[in-house]
Amino acid sequence: MSGSQQHVASASSKEKRKKGWKQVVYKRKKIKMARVKGEKYENYRGNIVEARTQGKPCGCKSQCFTKVPEDVRNELFKNFYNLETKNEQDSYLQGLIDYRPISRRRPRVDANKARPKMYTFKYNIVTKEEKINVCKAAFLSLHCISSDRVRRVSDLLLLGKIPEDKRGRKSPEKEVVVLIP
Ligand SMILES: [Zn+2]
Repeated sequence: MSGSQQHVASASSKEKRKKGWKQVVYKRKKIKMARVKGEKYENYRGNIVEARTQGKPCGCKSQCFTKVPEDVRNELFKNFYNLETKNEQDSYLQGLIDYRPISRRRPRVDANKARPKMYTFKYNIVTKEEKINVCKAAFLSLHCISSDRVRRVSDLLLLGKIPEDKRGRKSPEKEVVVLIP
């Protein structure tokens, strides 16, 4: 290998690294956006993650999906993924959740011992005309979201906090334990 060739090789590898870094940033942005938008994407492992679609009906005795016409459900689903950021989506979800403390009827064994408060949550769908109460399974299925996400949003609701994307931040938030039945 001659000297001039080596020079060319090192220049191109430098170029490659620069380009590689740009690609990493680009890919990260692309994945993040696709996840928010519920679109199909290739993850870091190179696996294809399919686009989000509405899940199955809940199967509870109220048959919640039948309370909301299909075109309305589709519209709500579309509007949800049209929101630009994860925070906006979480705030939207938060606005659909009501909560109230559970009243305990059983006598306390130890009245002095502080017990964590328990809450029940109600999940709603808001259409142009009305607010419709649905079960949690239907709520998750309609938005194609995880139970963990709803729990996070609900925890913040109890704390009176607005959802804020904490991923990638250095200082960890003090953990708050909330019991959800
Ligand atoms: Zn249901």
